[in-house]
Amino acid sequence: MFADIRRITARIAEKFKRRFYGRTFNCPVCHVELAVVDAGSNRLLVCPVCGVVIDIEEVYGHAVPVVLEVELFRPQPKARIHPLATHVPIGLYPFAVLGAVLLMAASLARLLFPGIEPLLSRAPVIADATLVLLALSVGLSVLTFASGLWDWNRRYRRRSYRQIRLKIAFSILFLVLGGFAVALHASGAVFAAGTGLVDLGSTMSIVLAVVELALLAAGMVVIATLGHVGGTLVFGR
Ligand SMILES: [Zn+2]
Repeated sequence: MFADIRRITARIAEKFKRRFYGRTFNCPVCHVELAVVDAGSNRLLVCPVCGVVIDIEEVYGHAVPVVLEVELFRPQPKARIHPLATHVPIGLYPFAVLGAVLLMAASLARLLFPGIEPLLSRAPVIADATLVLLALSVGLSVLTFASGLWDWNRRYRRRSYRQIRLKIAFSILFLVLGGFAVALHASGAVFAAGTGLVDLGSTMSIVLAVVELALLAAGMVVIATLGHVGGTLVFGR
């Protein structure tokens, strides 16, 4: 089953990638996949990972990368703040999602098995902890985003790379999705303040719980993509 899921996600990711990156080629030195469209009108492109200057030759309709030289005076910061900072939101976010999913499952379980009610007395604590994790993850991602822009400005000299455009767009998307999820959780409209659980007697609460779950799930996909694409900019492939 896992092999099927992996195959399906790989196919979706490939389709999405083709659409966004267009034609691609691999850097002959570090093997990172780069978009042909990022080369300037002179067909030159500096590899964001290893810093070689590549001339993209068109040979019978194929993009053939030829390494010309290495970019001199390329900033090589000792402390790479962005790749380090990125692990704070990525590390905390899944636990916030897990907390919300557990609270929703407990709300459903309470309806189906009223006997477990005494076990749920600590649900408000979990609801608060989940909110703290979510707020920290989304809040600290602002610093990650800022350090990424700083890196792009300094190390990559604001050159156009499809990967970086994707990361900027997805970072904004994550902040928007995460911001709404935090606001919805903090409002108490999904997880009631007294019980920490979803009031399944109220249609409004159920609808808002579904919205919260959708926001969190979309945020998970967005942050995983950000991490994956960021990884290619650190490790090549
Ligand atoms: Zn390279």
